[in-house]
Amino acid sequence: MRERDLTSDEPVIRLDRVGLSYGPENDVLADVSLQLRPGSMTFLTGPSGAGKSTLLKLAYLALRPTAGRVSMFGVDTTRLARKDLAPLRRRIGVVFQEFRLLDHLTAYENAALPLRVLGQHEKAYRDDVIELLKWVGLGDRLDARPATLSGGEKQRVAIARAVVVKPDLIIADEPTGNVDEEMGDRLYRLFRELNKRLNTTVLIATHDLALVRKAKTDVLRLADGMVVRVPALADPAPGAPA
Ligand code: ADP
Repeated sequence: MRERDLTSDEPVIRLDRVGLSYGPENDVLADVSLQLRPGSMTFLTGPSGAGKSTLLKLAYLALRPTAGRVSMFGVDTTRLARKDLAPLRRRIGVVFQEFRLLDHLTAYENAALPLRVLGQHEKAYRDDVIELLKWVGLGDRLDARPATLSGGEKQRVAIARAVVVKPDLIIADEPTGNVDEEMGDRLYRLFRELNKRLNTTVLIATHDLALVRKAKTDVLRLADGMVVRVPALADPAPGAPA
C-alpha cells in the first residue's frame, strides 16, 4: 500500500463558503464550510433531500459549486480544467447505495476494473485483487456475477472496487441503505478498518442514526443548506425514539 504523508496536516477536503444551486430557486447548499483532516472518519447526516449526495458529488469532483471554493488534497479545484481534475479523482474511491456494478463482469472483474482502466496488467494485480476480495469476505465468490450476489455481497464487491486503487479518501453515499442491519454493521467495520489500518480518510453520508451512534465519531449535520459539526452522538435513553 502507498505510504501516506502523515506529516501533512493539509485538509483532505476543504469547502469554503460553498453554495450549490441546481437552477433558479433550487438552492441546495447555501453556505457550507468544512474541513476533513487526513485520517479522519466522518459521518454526514441530515434529512432526505437535505443535499448530502450533492455535497458528496462536490467532494468527489463530479459537480462544481456555484459559489465558494472546493479544495481537495490541498489543491483549489475552482479554476482547474477538467483534465486536471482526473489525478485528484484517482485519489478518491466512491461507494454508492445502489452498488453500480457491471452485470456482465464477475465479482473479481468488477473489483479489478479500475486497475484495468488504468492500463495495468492482470499479472501485476491479480493476487492483490483476490486478497482484497478475501478481506471483504468474498474469497469464495470471485467468479460470481452480480445477479447471483446478495445486496451485502454486492456492496462488498463495490467496496473492494473503491479500495483497489489505494485511495487516500473513501466517500460512501448511503452505503448501508440497501442491506439489513447486521450487514450494515459489517460494512461499517470494513470502512473502520480501512480508516484505522491504512489511515484512509473516510466520509460516509447516511441517515442511519443507529450506525452513527455505534461509530461514536464526530458528525456533520446538513440542514437548511448549512453544515454544523456535532459531537459524537450519545446512545438514546431507553425508550426514546431512535
Ligand atoms: P440527499 O442526498 O440529502 O437526499 P440530494 O443531494 O440528493 O439530497 O438532493 C438535494 C435536493 O436537490 C433535492 O431537493 C433534490 O431533488 C435536488 N436535486 C438533486 N440532484 C438534482 C439535479 N441533478 N437537478 C435538480 N435538482 C436536483
